[in-house]
Amino acid sequence: MRALLTGLLGIVVVTIVVAGQQPPAPTGYDDTPMQPNGRWHIHDGKRPQPPIVTPGAMSPAPPPQDAIVLIGAGADRSAWQMMDGAAVTWAMNNGVLETGKGLIRTRAEFTDYQLHVEFATPKDVKGNSQERGNSGVFLNGKFEIQVLDSYQNITYPDGQASAMYGQYPPMVNASRPPGEWQSYDILFASPRFRPGGTFEKPAIVSVLHNGIAVHNATAFWGPTAHKKIDPYTPDNAKGPIALQDHGNPVRYRNIWIRPLKGYSE
Ligand code: MG
Repeated sequence: MRALLTGLLGIVVVTIVVAGQQPPAPTGYDDTPMQPNGRWHIHDGKRPQPPIVTPGAMSPAPPPQDAIVLIGAGADRSAWQMMDGAAVTWAMNNGVLETGKGLIRTRAEFTDYQLHVEFATPKDVKGNSQERGNSGVFLNGKFEIQVLDSYQNITYPDGQASAMYGQYPPMVNASRPPGEWQSYDILFASPRFRPGGTFEKPAIVSVLHNGIAVHNATAFWGPTAHKKIDPYTPDNAKGPIALQDHGNPVRYRNIWIRPLKGYSE
């Protein structure tokens, strides 16, 4: 009987491989640690899905006069490097950068800033959950605002598009259909540390997804990780903007940043 079952299982596995089908990606976890407020597991699939809000028409967002253009018409890839410092290998054509192998980061580091990002996930939909149009915008190289095709694609809410990955889902799902350009407008304040490196206050983020508020001055519990939340360390106090390679082709355009220095005295 056992041999028969093993044989049948083998046939099933072989059949799946022959058919070239990927097993579906998980849409949540309940074997992960609880989040610090004790309400949900990290990547909890039972957490309520954010309500869907259809965004208005895409508004052009040309860089303001004082912005640093990171990707744009006429801009090359010189603001970026691979994480190990090598030249960027992602392809760029007509101001559009497409994800390639390995993460990239800006050469410059920032502290408090306004960041505009436009992205598009593939029109040709493949995979489900986290395997569909996955990339990410890493603030200070550590705090991820998720990029994902979250149009009619169920995943754990703290991992959907514009989520503070593994921490907070967006307040609403403002995703456009796959292949369409979408925008993030992000206000970020770096975490603060006292002299000597003791923690003073967390990173704070506000995000508009396609012009719709999805995070409102929300604190990160710590740097982004998968199935856990990393602790703050003093080197989180500043960092680059990084873009994630998650094995799915995602396009980026019109990325600009304005470092914020606070009010004039
Ligand atoms: Mg990601």
